[in-house]
Amino acid sequence: MPMLSEVRVRFAPSPTGYLHVGGLRTALFNFLFAKKNHGKFILRIEDTDRNRYVEGAEENLIAILKWIGLQYDEGPDIGGEFGPYRQSERLNIYTKHAQELINKGHAYYCFCTQERLEKLRKEQQLLKFPQAKYDKYCLNLTKKEIEEKLSSGIPKVVRLNVIPNQKIIFNDVVRGIVEFDSNNIDDQILIKSDGFPTYHLANVVDDHLMKISHVIRGEEWLSSTPKHVLLYDFFNWERPIFAHLPLLLNPDRTKLSKRQGDVAVEDYRDKGYLKEALINFVALLGWNAGDNKEFYYLDELIEKFSFEGVNKSSAVFDVVKLNALNAEHIRKKNTTELLALLKKELSQSQFSNSSFSDEYLMQVIEAMKERVTFVKEFITNCKYFYEEPTEYEQKAIEKSWKSETPEQLKKLRDKFAELTNPQKTDYEKALSQLAEELKISKGKLIHPLRLAVSGQSTGPGVYDIVYILGKDEVIKRINNAIEKIKLSS
Ligand code: GLU
Repeated sequence: MPMLSEVRVRFAPSPTGYLHVGGLRTALFNFLFAKKNHGKFILRIEDTDRNRYVEGAEENLIAILKWIGLQYDEGPDIGGEFGPYRQSERLNIYTKHAQELINKGHAYYCFCTQERLEKLRKEQQLLKFPQAKYDKYCLNLTKKEIEEKLSSGIPKVVRLNVIPNQKIIFNDVVRGIVEFDSNNIDDQILIKSDGFPTYHLANVVDDHLMKISHVIRGEEWLSSTPKHVLLYDFFNWERPIFAHLPLLLNPDRTKLSKRQGDVAVEDYRDKGYLKEALINFVALLGWNAGDNKEFYYLDELIEKFSFEGVNKSSAVFDVVKLNALNAEHIRKKNTTELLALLKKELSQSQFSNSSFSDEYLMQVIEAMKERVTFVKEFITNCKYFYEEPTEYEQKAIEKSWKSETPEQLKKLRDKFAELTNPQKTDYEKALSQLAEELKISKGKLIHPLRLAVSGQSTGPGVYDIVYILGKDEVIKRINNAIEKIKLSS
């Protein structure tokens, strides 16, 4: 068999609504393999199932692939040498190939009615057949009968003529040698009564015509592969190399499903996950580089990717890990990058009408960077950087706001007021000095100060907060807190 020289792989989704995270994993592994081998990554839209067709799904899919950065080299919107890349635009190609199979005796017309098929299914059920199988009834029609039926215009399909009692063997780079018994394989419909091909025929014909070298897809397609292998053999075409990626499971080891959380990539995007984190996380669903590293950028993934690292066993989709990776990708971003992201969040937040200088926001970022999982938490976890606190944590009041606190804070406020152009350490010194003068522990001032300026008992270092807010704002907030906390207690 001649070796296929160029690596050409494809992501071949059916546009049924949204991009599933499992689909993203398939797209990513194809992309990584193509880039690693200087090959081509192709997007092909498998839209021949008219019942499942969803308006706008293709545009959605393309938009999300673009957002996440998996740019394909050929596809429906950008074209390429082997187009069209939308199966609904290739119908005549499939009809022609189905005819070729019919002529060679590898496929045949079937005119059986739904009623007959249903009856057959029930009979087989009673006989405890492991699965319903067509009984090849129409294979035995005479030439004349076939012609008569064809010209009468009654509904017809084209079926694959699977030869019984055969072993169908193929090699899968992830799973090794895989063997199926042809007796368990149905005479698959290749062309439906509406004239559209089924997935099996269209997929194989296109993979061949588009010169696909490696078919990389989810394990749920493994049971379709013997049918595909038969088609390659019947057409006398070289088979591509198959790689079936492990199933994705929920943490309770059930099949990853919508019921247990989000499965659409756009949901994760809309929740604020960074594309870098999603890519990193999805890459680890069934693959590892053989080291203990878990943090990767796309470039490194391209460099490290190989089928040896793909596991046979199922991969668990663990949102806790995704969150940890999101936090880590935020931490590793530089302040300028985060500034752009934060400004975008601010423009969609309740503070869209307020203006903050870049310098100010960069200080907020520096203070909060280690404490957020999502970019939006640069706002939601520390609203006090954007507005005066309107409420003060009740528990913290009970714990640290004593009857002597207002007087002590007034003294602290006055000390702060005397400072010119204070730095962080100047606030710290002023507070230490006062604690010494009053002969109290620093904590007696620090906790109420934090509460007064932020309304909260946790957050970055109090001197960081004070420094970022600036002297005038801090003085104002101390005054306010004295007023408000006195009123509410
Ligand atoms: N259209 C199939 C899907 O929706 C493609 C499977 C394959 O890659 O062969 O996933």
